[in-house]
Amino acid sequence: MNILLLGKGGQVGWELQRALAPLGQVVAHDADTADFTQPDQVAALVRSVRPDVIVNAAAHTAVDKAESEPELARVINATTPGALAGAARELNALLVHYSTDYVFDGSGVVPRDESAATGPLSVYGQTKLEGEQLIAQSGCQHLIFRTSWVYAARGGNFARTMLRLAAERDMLSVIDDQVGAPTGADLLADVTAHTIRATRARPELAGLYHLVAAGETSWHDYARFVIEWARANGGVNGQAIKVAPDAIRPIATSAYPTPARRPLNSRLATGKLRVAFDLTLPHWQAGVHRMLTEISGK
Ligand code: NDP
Repeated sequence: MNILLLGKGGQVGWELQRALAPLGQVVAHDADTADFTQPDQVAALVRSVRPDVIVNAAAHTAVDKAESEPELARVINATTPGALAGAARELNALLVHYSTDYVFDGSGVVPRDESAATGPLSVYGQTKLEGEQLIAQSGCQHLIFRTSWVYAARGGNFARTMLRLAAERDMLSVIDDQVGAPTGADLLADVTAHTIRATRARPELAGLYHLVAAGETSWHDYARFVIEWARANGGVNGQAIKVAPDAIRPIATSAYPTPARRPLNSRLATGKLRVAFDLTLPHWQAGVHRMLTEISGK
């Protein structure tokens, strides 16, 4: 199997380099050689590589910044994925793509499934939704995974930011009214490899799926989990934790204004994926624990 991986240097792209390797020949690119601001060039690259599978981990993920650069976010998150889908259709290749809980408006408290109405609150969410739609409309065989709150041992993410701040400050304020599931880039990559194999054997499995770790938490409780772990383990990377668990103050989203609005309810229902691919999704705490162990070298 020939696989073309795009966005190889991001959190998910990095883990995909590892997880896809046993499936076949992987040709991996980053923005230097496959620039998503150039849709025609990226499509031409696909036509020259002629892969069986294209995995797209590239995206404009700076959610607040996207509000002031919507055209850049749109070309990276929608136009170029659409061009990839057109090339995949011509070559009869499977396209794997990632999307987000931010396609929803986050109302209510119930986990949303794949058939729930979308209603993005931000440019990021809107452009990611447009990317999904262009892929679906192209008629190419595809797997689209909507995920949430991605972290990895490598790259920038919430858990790493909390650890840095907890070493610098005596007190932290963290949002407690947004609820979701922190999901490891390693889990996303491993499930991607599994589902590519299964979909190549059974093409009827192609489609849109929600893919997040099991369980749910708020950003506040997630921060507490990470900081309590670091305190119990003598800090991280030689840095002592200054913040006591009780000094992590819960605040409402409304008390922390940001350029982009974010959904309060980021819960995604994963039943479709678990049944279709016979998968068990581990609890979010197991993955975060593993990531903390890895970054602290314990
Ligand atoms: P990262 O931000 O870690 O990685 C994004 C990658 O896209 C980087 O390698 C980046 O390269 C690349 N990229 C950015 N601009 C361009 C460009 N113009 N041309 C080519 N590549 C570019 O994101 P994640 O790995 O966390 O995200 C993977 C997927 O998961 C994305 O589709 C994202 O929308 C989705 N997702 C992510 C969530 C999260 O919390 N992070 C939540 C929900 C969904 P460089 O570093 O060189 O700029």
